[in-house]
Formats: sequence, structure tokens, C-alpha cells
Amino acid sequence: MIAKVIVDVPSRQTDRPFDYEVPASMEDWIEVGSRVGVPFGGRVLQGFVTQLAATADIDPKRLKPISELLDPVPPLLPDLIHLAKWMSDKYCCSWTTALQAMIPAALKGKAERLVGIQDEEAAAVDLPLEMTEWIGASGQLVKLEALLERFPEHARAVKAGLREGVLAQQTSIRDRLAIRKVLTVFVPHDTEAIRSAMDAIPARAAKQREVLAYMLEHGGPLPLQMLLAEAGGSAATVRSLAEKGLLELREVEQQRDPYAGREFERTTPLPLTDGQEAVYGRIARAVDAGEPQTMLLHGVTGSGKTEVYLQSIQFCLEQEKQAIVLVPEISLTPQMVERFKGRFGDAVAVLHSRLSNGERYDEWRKIRSRQVQVAIGARSAIFAPFERIGLIIIDEEHESSYKQEESPKYHARDVAVRRAKQHGAAVVLGSATPSLESFAAASRPMTARDQGREPALLPMPDRVGGRPLPPVTVIDMREELKEGNRSMFSRLLHSSLAERLERGEQSVLLLNRRGYSTFVMCRSCGYTAACPHCDISLTFHQKSRVMRCHYCGHAEQAPATCPSCQSEHIRYFGTGTQRVEEELSKLFPGIRVIRMDVDTTTEKNSHEKLLKQFGERKADVLLGTQMVAKGLDFPYVTLVGVIAADTSLNLPDFRAAERTFQLLTQVAGRAGRHHLPGEVVVQTYAPEHYAVVTAQQHDYTAFVSEELRHRGAMGYPPYCRLILVTMSHEQLPLLASVSEQYASGLRELAEHEGVLLPLNSGFGRALEVLGPVASPISRMKDRYRFQCVIKYRGNIDASALVRKALGPFLDGPPQRQVQFSIDVDPQVIL
Ligand code: ADP
Ligand code: ZN
Ligand code: ZN
Repeated sequence: MIAKVIVDVPSRQTDRPFDYEVPASMEDWIEVGSRVGVPFGGRVLQGFVTQLAATADIDPKRLKPISELLDPVPPLLPDLIHLAKWMSDKYCCSWTTALQAMIPAALKGKAERLVGIQDEEAAAVDLPLEMTEWIGASGQLVKLEALLERFPEHARAVKAGLREGVLAQQTSIRDRLAIRKVLTVFVPHDTEAIRSAMDAIPARAAKQREVLAYMLEHGGPLPLQMLLAEAGGSAATVRSLAEKGLLELREVEQQRDPYAGREFERTTPLPLTDGQEAVYGRIARAVDAGEPQTMLLHGVTGSGKTEVYLQSIQFCLEQEKQAIVLVPEISLTPQMVERFKGRFGDAVAVLHSRLSNGERYDEWRKIRSRQVQVAIGARSAIFAPFERIGLIIIDEEHESSYKQEESPKYHARDVAVRRAKQHGAAVVLGSATPSLESFAAASRPMTARDQGREPALLPMPDRVGGRPLPPVTVIDMREELKEGNRSMFSRLLHSSLAERLERGEQSVLLLNRRGYSTFVMCRSCGYTAACPHCDISLTFHQKSRVMRCHYCGHAEQAPATCPSCQSEHIRYFGTGTQRVEEELSKLFPGIRVIRMDVDTTTEKNSHEKLLKQFGERKADVLLGTQMVAKGLDFPYVTLVGVIAADTSLNLPDFRAAERTFQLLTQVAGRAGRHHLPGEVVVQTYAPEHYAVVTAQQHDYTAFVSEELRHRGAMGYPPYCRLILVTMSHEQLPLLASVSEQYASGLRELAEHEGVLLPLNSGFGRALEVLGPVASPISRMKDRYRFQCVIKYRGNIDASALVRKALGPFLDGPPQRQVQFSIDVDPQVIL
């Protein structure tokens, strides 16, 4: 038997399966998806089996055997192995990089070098006695690292010993994290025999008798520690009982449960509203059909999307299929978890980034071992190793956090659609403000090919219970200034806040922080502190008075005088939220503010803690950045204020208007969700911008038609797709010439395919290569950066062209090599 193995070396040269012989002892165990240790270039590396075959592609004499099979149950399933291959093609990453993204960190095995004594006679002569004793008799192995640490002065002797065969070396893959095991006490089956044996226990061993009696009464297995705490006695007592065969003592795997001991109040399905019923029916039919379908649930904030998700999942579970729910990391709040645990209890695994590696691994194992049927989590939960997926839900599908910014640069939405295809599963994208891409795809007019197809767009335009969407007032801050108000609060927002304080209601204040960072600037000469290695200003941290670079980590003390003109008028602009907080305390002495931003949420669980406090009405105002806009549901919030709505409109990003509209709509949706009516105040310098106007009117359709017009005119998605190729090198001239060569090579390939045409040429298939030009951030970590943007439409495998064009640049001395970074469907082209 031959296994094809993808080895964990993320280089383009090794990005293909290698053949290995499967030792007979492994034949019954090995499967596609198994994790193995294999010899590779003199080392042992971790790899995954992608295929089993009867014959090898290479000379059988050159075949090496697999050295280890790492898990009795393969961590990956064949569908994930194939999905990873698809990802590597589409996102231009190596197959192994895609596979690594699918497994918990705990399974990213690390090679460990072990040594043992091979030649005892020679060892007695060549090695210090102390060392040979420490290693132990032959056959015993110790970690090489530990050996060198213990005997640093004999490193040379160890090396010589290895070279001359006095010592033997072996490599093994060790998991980064062990499964937690607990010593557990069991009662053997034959309780009658035990009872009579108990009577025979002499009186001086009364403790043994007590422990045994306790276990007989308790019946089930008990962790040793718990038994000792409850029944008294010592470990020795239990051991002697075990030696007599009256009890059994075994190690039992234990799962770390981050939600252990937490009671979730069980909920039952609510009677659905007519709007919910229609959508639910449509989803249930899709799950039932078992054919892959993607639907877009466009439901306004408060329309009850979550209840639809819950009941659709219920239906899916009744069909004995599993469900995956993706939510943006930031909205994976206790509120959200409670809703799912409350409905499905222990059938739910929760995967979020605040879990420890161990907790995450254990949640993941619950999925793999079929203990749970529902996985809810952020982006990477799309790889949950379920075998029969019926439904994938992506809540807030427009969120940019579904795109991973480091390799593999995948978009969870596209991966979901692909995975659903393999399982015949339904995909439900849910949002109050769908991305233009999803909206355009779902509202595509039906053609003859779609006959009998049900619509993909599922609208829920009304809030549950007929509650109105909150009225939004837009304040033109230029007018405020004209009328002498220099404060950051408009008069309306000021008086509305005062009213809430008086009535004991709560407010949410959002500071749109995109494009609004913290920096150091000289008021006399205009000098700004910039990173010496990157083309970007340094960020000022008030607490430590240190300026730091976000890209390379460069840090320096903030200067007291301007380094350029020696003026003392150097100013530190702290985080916007800090300034707002100070202003609030000045205007409303005694006001209780909870600030939520990157500075106050670095600690584990701090996000939850702050929200919990706010939920318990321990504060009047929740002030924050984007974080406060998502998914919060607090009954006493009756005012939402947006300070500086337009800071994100000015970014050189083709999605700037879309992001602004989404943010305004989402945050407005936090007000008046329950019995108290809500109100929204939006402050802006661009009140006439269509993103602001349509958000004020809660008019998604109007926003979309205007935005689509702009995208069409400028040639941006959804009218085409983009690939961003960024190239970097320390030497500018070399970079300039290589990027020029790359672009023209790519154009040649496209020309050859007959698709190198302007996008507006009227042909179905067209591809343009823009650039190379200097990247908007033109230098990072002392490397210059150039970029090409590829725009294309129609059925073109642009990823393949982009990869093919790389060919000539893969070889050559490393120091001369230009680094290529490929971003398919980029979220930002900065
Ligand atoms: P969305 O996610 O669409 O913004 P939610 O799912 O948070 O909306 O629902 C808003 C509120 O309406 C929640 O408090 C929820 O419990 C309630 N709700 C949802 N569906 C129903 C229903 N069918 N009957 C009564 N209340 C409902
Ligand atoms: Zn100056
Ligand atoms: Zn830097």
C-alpha cells in the first residue's frame, strides 16, 4: 500500500504529495486525512495523507516507509483534504498551508529529537558515567534537547557519540498539547463478589472498607481526587483496593469545557411570525433536498434572524445532519452563545479565539467524535470536521473579518459555498446590510437554466412585533461650528444624552475609528512621527508614552520637542475614544462611561466583562469603536450616537461607502429593540453623501442601486473580481524591474488565452492588469512595495494565470528574490 503525503513544508517546490510505503502494521488504520510522521530530507516531518494507492509514481526501491501514524482516528476527512487542494489553487497558497488552517494548533506537531545509547561498551569509554546513567540502559530514549541542557559542557561528546554510532538518534512528532487525563476509580462488574470481599476486610483497614462502601453506593466511576475528597482516605487506600481487584484505577481522557458549570436556561422554539415562517420553510426545503444551494437572508436589524437560524438548525438535526454557524468573532458574545446553548445544550461546540489551545482542541474533538452536531464559531469554524453537513449559516455575512488577512487568505463565505457543494448542504447568508457581492448574486435574474429554482433572496423587511426602526437624525457638524459650537458633541446629541441620564436609560456612542488614528504631530512645522522602516505614522500610546509601528513593531519614546524644528508645540493625539471620554466627564460630571476599544479589551474576556457590566446597567454610556456596533441587544438602550460618521468615507478604498452604510445601519439597529422606543443621532461633515442619506432612511435598496452605479462606472466588484499581487524587496531598482517583468509576463499569458481585453469591451470574458505601481504603503519593514491589480470578469481561472506568471521568479539566489504576496478577492487594496 502506498500513501501520498503532503509534507509540512510550505514552499512552492514541495507543494505536492510525496509517495511513501505504508508499513503492514498501519494498513488497517491509515486513511485519507490521517496525520503521519514521514522521513523527509534527513528529518522527520508531519504530513497528511491525501490518497491511498496500490502503486507508486516513483521507483519502488526508493520508497521510504511512513515512520509514525499519529492519531488512531484521522483528524481530517477526505472532503477537507480536497477542500484544501481547492483553496491552494484558488488562493495561491501551498496545500499544506491550507491544511494547517483546518486543524487546531494543538495538532501542529513538532518534531522532537530523541537519543539513546546504541553501543554500551563504547559509551562506557567515550561518555561520562554521569551521562550514561542519566540516559539509562539501551532501548531507553531521552530528548536530545534535555540531554544538552543537563550536560552543556559535554555537547561535543554527544555530537561525536551520535556521529560514531555510540548514541542512536530518532525523531518523533510530538503534539504541542497533550490530551488531559485524569486518574479515575471504577467499580468492577461483579459487585456481589466485592460485597462479600468487603466483609473480609479486616477492621484495622476500616478506611478501605469506607472507600469501597462509598464506591458501591455511588456506582459510577469517580475521579480519584473527587473520591478522596468525598470519602476520605488516601491514594494508597485506593491503590491497595485496586491491587486486590476490588476497584479499578484507570486514566480517563477528560475534556476541558470552557462552559462547564454554566447553566444555560433551555429555550423552546417561538411561534414564528409570517415573515420568519416563509423564510424558514424555504430553508427547510433546501436542507431536505440535500442539494447545494446558497440563499441570502436579508433581514433588518431586529427582524428575528436568530430564531430562524435556530429552527432551521433544529430541522437539520432532525434530518440527522450537522450544522455550522459562523459569526464574526466580535459578536461571538455570551449573549450569542447563550442563545445556541440554550436551544441545543450539549449538542453545541463553541470555537472562538479566546479559548486556550487546550479548550479549543477539546471543542474540536467533540465535533470530530460526533458528540456534538452544531458548531458555532468565527471564520475557521467553517472547517469543523463534520461528516454530513446539512446547513451552513453565516451571520452578518458582510463582515470583513470573514476574510483571513494572512495566508491562506481565504474568504469563509466562498469556502462555505465550496464545502456545501461537497456535502449537498444549504448555505444561508444572513445580514441587514448584505455585501454587494452577495446581493448581486442572490438577485441575479432567473434564466431558462434556473427553471423551477426557488428564489435565492429571502427578505425579512419588518421587525418582530411591528416595532419601528428608530428614527435617525443627521447633524451637519459644519453648521454646528458656524453657529459657534466647537464641542465634539452637537447640541442635539448633548441634550439627548442629558435626557437619558435623567431618565436612567442607556446610550451607545460610536466613534468611527477607521482612518482616525493616534499620532504625534508638530503644530509649528507639521512634522509627524513616522516609522523609519515603514511608510506609515507611528501610533501613540498614552499610557506608556511610547510611539509604535503597527506593521513592524518599531517603538520609541515620544519626543518632548519637535525633532524637526525643536518647537515645543508638539501634540499627542490619543485614541479618539479617550478624548471623547474626557469630554463626556467634563460635560456630565459623574457620568458612568464604559469604554470599549483596543486599549480596554486586550485582556482575555475583557470584552465580555465590559458588556456584562453595561447589561447590568452599571454604566450610562457604552463608548467604543466598531466593536459596539455589532449584535448587542440591551433593552434600556434608547439612544445611539455616532460621532464622526464620515471618517471612513474618505479612505482610498472602493468599499468605503459600503462600509460606512453598514456601520451606520448596524449601530442604529442597537436602539429601541425592546419596549422602549429608540433614537439615533448621526454627526457628520458629509450629510449629503448617499451612504449617510440612505442609512438615515433605512433604505438598503436605495443605497445598493446608487452604489452599484458607482461600482459599474469604476469597474469594481461585483462587476468584476480582483486579485492583488504585492511584490516587495529591499532594493527599489530591482523591485521596479521585476514587477514590470511580472506584469508583462502576466499580460502575455492572458493575451495567449485571448482574454486580455478592457473590462468594458462588451465581451463576456475580459481581464486587465493594472500597474505595477507603488503600493499605498510604499515601504514596510525596510522593504519597498509595488503592486499589480488584476481585474477580470467572466469564467476565467485568473488564479491559475497569476500563479503561472510566477514561474520565472521562483528560482534564483534567495537574497535577490522578490517576495510575492497574492490576495484573491482582497477586502482592501491598500
Ligand atoms: P436580528 O438578529 O434579526 O437583529 P434577533 O434575532 O436578535 O434579530 O431578534 C430580535 C428580538 O426579537 C429578539 O429579542 C428575539 O428574541 C425576538 N424574536 C425573534 N423572533 C420572535 C418571535 N417569532 N416571536 C417573538 N419574539 C421574537
Ligand atoms: Zn516642528
Ligand atoms: Zn514600521
